[in-house]
Amino acid sequence: MAASQQNSQQTGFDIIIIGAGPAGLALARMLGDMELKIAVIERHGEKVLQEPPEDGRDIALTHSSEATMRALGMWAYLPEDQIGLIRDAKVVNGTSPFALHFAAQGSGAEYLGRIVPNHLIRKAAYEVVRDQPGLTLLCDSEVVAVATDTTGGHVSLKDGRQLEAALIVAADSRFSATRRKMGIATHSTDFGRTVIVCEMTHELSHDDTAFECFHYDQTLAILPMHGLKSSVVVTLPSTRADAVMAMAPEAFAADIAARFDMRLGRMQLASARHAYPLVGVLARSFVANRFALIGDAAVGMHPVTAHGYNLGLSGAGLLADELHKARQTGRDLGDMAGLRAYESTHRRAVLPLYHGTNALVRLFTDDRPPARLLRDVALRLGNFLPPVKSGILRQLTHIEKRER
Ligand SMILES: Cc1cc2nc3c(=O)[nH]c(=O)nc-3n(C[C@H](O)[C@H](O)[C@H](O)COP(=O)(O)OP(=O)(O)OC[C@H]3O[C@@H](n4cnc5c(N)ncnc54)[C@H](O)[C@@H]3O)c2cc1C
Repeated sequence: MAASQQNSQQTGFDIIIIGAGPAGLALARMLGDMELKIAVIERHGEKVLQEPPEDGRDIALTHSSEATMRALGMWAYLPEDQIGLIRDAKVVNGTSPFALHFAAQGSGAEYLGRIVPNHLIRKAAYEVVRDQPGLTLLCDSEVVAVATDTTGGHVSLKDGRQLEAALIVAADSRFSATRRKMGIATHSTDFGRTVIVCEMTHELSHDDTAFECFHYDQTLAILPMHGLKSSVVVTLPSTRADAVMAMAPEAFAADIAARFDMRLGRMQLASARHAYPLVGVLARSFVANRFALIGDAAVGMHPVTAHGYNLGLSGAGLLADELHKARQTGRDLGDMAGLRAYESTHRRAVLPLYHGTNALVRLFTDDRPPARLLRDVALRLGNFLPPVKSGILRQLTHIEKRER
């Protein structure tokens, strides 16, 4: 029987997670050995979780994320022929022939990272919790009110149900309505840009190399997928996004191939194109009384540095560690000391990545000549200063160490 059909009338839980995205479901799985009563509330129907629609996002995963997903059993649900390998990465500035080059070879790692379509990650996250004992999946459910007090957290659903738990966790996206209902402010940056993502097949091998090309009017990232296929990420001013989305597939493909200097030969569109407005969001606090934010609800990253879900997984892991500790020492799951420990460790990892990514985006989208020059200098310095380069490489492959 699916977890959703069990206990659907139950109203008292240990933990309520709002949002059955890849972060919320991963957290639920991480708590699977604690014999807890967990409710996961999701506004979409269960069919969407079973067969998530393809959304154009291909997620670059660090070694740490891969290890976590293997430990959670998620990796086993990813079809092998959908897992790409990133061995090398190159960053190119405009028409300069110089590239900042990160190679797995010599770094001690066999590869820099993996790349997997987001809808398959979402499906894998659902598969590992669907029969989890003690887990109640409440799909097609809309949260209308959330509040916490000294006794617990209280959630009201649109259908009139009132749920209670010792702790409420919001994993309901970077535009989290729960975060707002709990009065947590954010630092947010609307980059005024839109990212268009799609998959493309091509004539020549990508040699497992990811490219980030900062052209002066748009940014192009080409990420190697399995076989002769790449994930293409075009970032451009939002005023031009509609026109690019409306281009005929052949014209779009020819334009991308030309912008990429025909490095992959002729290219063809292999999926629908999806557009996302670029907004970076950082919650001012990740916790409140009996309340925690995880995933994009805590930090919604600009995708250029590919840290979003990697941070989502590591943050969920840190919170899970604190909840395990609370249980082992007989403390309340909503105990503020544990929540604060989660917040401070996660925030230490998040802050440099969030602000560093935003600074990088500003530098690489500034068309003025001094910025162009600074970009070139930054790339050359990055290449020739081994500590800088190895630091970036470490970030590409690992994020933060967990205790468990
Ligand atoms: C173009 C693009 C490329 C990316 N590339 C990478 C990459 O290479 N590497 C990387 O690590 N990350 C990447 N990311 C980021 C990654 O996709 C996100 O970090 C990740 O999907 C966030 O997962 P989440 O579970 O926090 O949130 P979401 O995936 O947003 O899921 C939130 C869930 O909550 C549900 N929900 C929302 N509101 C409510 C509500 N009120 N009540 C109930 N349910 C609700 C939603 O239906 C959804 O199921 C990329 C993002 C984009 C846009």
